[in-house]
Order: sequence, then C-alpha cells, then structure tokens
Amino acid sequence: MRANNLHMADIAHMVHQQTDLDAHGREGAVLIAKGDGVHVVDSEGRRYIEAMAGLWCASLGFSEKRLADAAYKQLLELPYYHTFFQKGHEPSVRLAEKLVEMAPGDLSHVMFQCSGSEANDAAIKVIWYYNNLRGKPAKKKLIGRIRGYHGNTVATASLSGQPHMQADFDLPYGDRFLHISNPHYYRFHEAGETERDFSARMAAELEALIEREGADTIAAFFAEPVQGGGGAITPPEGYFDLIQPILKKHDILFVADEVICGFGRTGNLWGSETYGITPDILTCAKQLTAAYQPLSATLISRPIQEALVAGSKKHGSFGHGFTYGGHPVACAVGLETLAIYEERDMVGHVRAVAPAFLNGLGAFRDHPLVGDVRGVGLIAGVELMADKASRTPFAPSRKVGVLVQNKCHEAGLIVRAIGDRIAFTPPLIITEAEIQDMCHRFREGLDAAW
Ligand code: PLP
Repeated sequence: MRANNLHMADIAHMVHQQTDLDAHGREGAVLIAKGDGVHVVDSEGRRYIEAMAGLWCASLGFSEKRLADAAYKQLLELPYYHTFFQKGHEPSVRLAEKLVEMAPGDLSHVMFQCSGSEANDAAIKVIWYYNNLRGKPAKKKLIGRIRGYHGNTVATASLSGQPHMQADFDLPYGDRFLHISNPHYYRFHEAGETERDFSARMAAELEALIEREGADTIAAFFAEPVQGGGGAITPPEGYFDLIQPILKKHDILFVADEVICGFGRTGNLWGSETYGITPDILTCAKQLTAAYQPLSATLISRPIQEALVAGSKKHGSFGHGFTYGGHPVACAVGLETLAIYEERDMVGHVRAVAPAFLNGLGAFRDHPLVGDVRGVGLIAGVELMADKASRTPFAPSRKVGVLVQNKCHEAGLIVRAIGDRIAFTPPLIITEAEIQDMCHRFREGLDAAW
C-alpha cells in the first residue's frame, strides 16, 4: 500500500540514519527539496541557512552548476569503469596525481573509495597488511580518542569513541581498539591547568597506554585535526606537537582523518597544516567533491606503498577494493571541485571570512545558555552550560542541545546539536553578510530556547 503523502510514506518506509527512530515515527522528518547557495528549502517551502553544509561537506553550497556539468559530461563520456585487474581510467589517475601534489608531508599514492568510513576502513586494513608484510604481525592495535569519529563500518565504529554508535551493536569488535581521553580543554581541564599543561597530560596518558600495552602491539594512532562529530572540538595548544614524537619513538603510524578538515575548512588546505601534523596516512572525503558525488581517498606514504607491492609478490593480487571506488563520475566532479577551489582561492576566502564567523559566534559567550565558543577557520562549536562558573553541563535528560537546534530550525537556521554542543560548519562559500544573518538567526533560536 502506498501512502498518499510524502511525510506519511517517509514514516511508513524509511529507516533514517543517525536518527531517533522513535521520534521519527511520531514526528516525521524535515525533507529537503532543493538548494541554492548556502540555503536549502524543505518540502513545505521553508528556507534555511544550512550552517552545517549538510554533513560538513557541501563546501560549494547547493547550486554549483559547474559540478553538475562535470558529472553530466563524464556520464556521456564514460559513465562507469573500475580500477580493478590492472585497468583504470583518466579521471581517477588525474585526481590521484592532483591529491599527491596537494598532500602534506610525503604521501605518494592514493586509494579511492566512496565514503569517509571506507577510507578509514581501508587505512586500517592497509596498516594491518603492512605490519604483517614487514614482519611485525603482533603490531596491530589502533588508538582512537574518546568522542573521536572515524566512520560507521564495524572497524571504524570500533575505532571511534562514540558510545551510542557501539552500544548493542556489539562494538568495539575484538581487542584491537584502544581509546585515550578526549582532548577537550574547556570541559576537562583541571583548576589552574593551562592548555599546554593539559596537552602534556594528554600526551603522558598516551605514552602510559603505549607502555602498558607494549609498543610492539600498537600499529597506529588515528586523529581528526579538529574533532567534528565529537562536537567541533579544536585541539588544545601544543597537543599534536607533543603527541607526534611519542608515536615516532614507538614506531606507531599517524593517520590524519581529514574527512571534515580537508580542503580548506580550517583556513589551510589541510587540518594537518593548521596543526603541524605530518601524517603517514591521510584520509579525506566530503569536500573532495563538495559532496556532489560520493568519493573518498586514502593517501599513503611510499614505504607503505612498497609494502603493498611486496604483498603482491607474495599473494598476487592486492586483495582489496570496491566496485565503485574511484568512480569516474565522482573523480571528474572531484577534479572540477579542486579546480574551483583554486580558481576562487577558497582557502583565502575562508581566511577572509573566518574572523566574522568566529567573532560573530564568539559574541554568544555572553549568552546565559553558553559556556564556551571555540573554532578555527569555518568550523566552530558553541558549548551550552547549566552553570558557567563551575562548568556544570545540563542534565542530558533535558536535551537542551536538541531544544536549541529545533528553535534554530524554526528561525530558519540548520545547525547540529551534538549533546549540548552546537556545531557550525557552513559551506565554505558563505559571505560575511550571510554569516551575520546566520548569527542573527542563531540568537533568535537561542533566545527562544532560554
Ligand atoms: N571521519 C570523519 C572525521 C567524519 O566526520 C566522518 C563523517 O562525518 C567520517 C569519517 C565518515 O564518513 P562517511 O559518513 O562518509 O562514511
């Protein structure tokens, strides 16, 4: 039986992802029908500023015709081919070449997948393979961080530090996934502790974990330069400077998960650049195609690539790959996206508008609901607090974050509540006037929730 109304059909048949399905069953969902620039319009005709760029990804907004044209052109030329069995196609080769040229540090080869989860999952598989092939079969454990997010496959959800994505899914799976503290200075620093002291405490915790487990059992450390799904949390001062030598000392790979931070979000091409990270592996997705096509990439260093080649001498084929990994249409859109970023100097634009964005949101520190505001480039988190002086959060049962999010929706602004942290990651093309409008609507939403 077909429901005669879109919302009824949605409730009747859709399993929404990352959604309270009980609430969805009662209230339905906001269904987005179209977009223009930084705005989207829902099926009832309501127009919103999309201050999350969808899921931290629609960097060029919702109406970039050049990307539609690039997809159409490629669909006519070669709508599909794979990169298996020593075959391939030009768009994936050109995009790999471009990414290596742009990458930080010494990354030389690219594996394409469709999603950020797959990019990190592929990194995990490659790391295990690499350590077997270099004669270190015991070196397999992976370190993630509490509140870190690396995806939703069995392995990446195990690596992530998101308890609600693990409970009753029987995750983390196995004993290869370790977690260290969330380096969220504002929430977790002790009285009188400076950011640098806090970073030193975080680094000491990492070193103690490595010593407890044995460095010869630990393969890699995964980190987002700025934690996104954990609440738009910027690293405390000195954090990555202290972490990296510890990893080097113990022969542990650093995987920079740039799925959110890559391609200008933090005011540099890479979050790794912003925070002085030299990764052994870098994963990226989302803004790689401005979200107009699903595509992700795992960039590896030459020693890792050499181990993969050694693996083929042993096993024949490199036994990994996805039918749609490096899809030609997605790669063509990726190439066009990167060309637009360069032509429009998107990194320069982010730097130019970041002060308006960060100062505009920073002004909410005075609001009675707000404890802290932090960000870099065009990513920021606004922390809601029951009592600012003692840094006491609201009781989770009050769902204050969701209330603010919903009031913002009513004010025509899409933001995301991550617990009691409101995340902002607008399309990179946002203008100062649109930032002012965004802040104005946020005040309306926040006041309505107060
Ligand atoms: N890594 C990070 C840092 C992310 O924020 C996300 C998604 O938000 C992922 C990985 C997973 O990407 P996807 O949802 O494309 O699988």
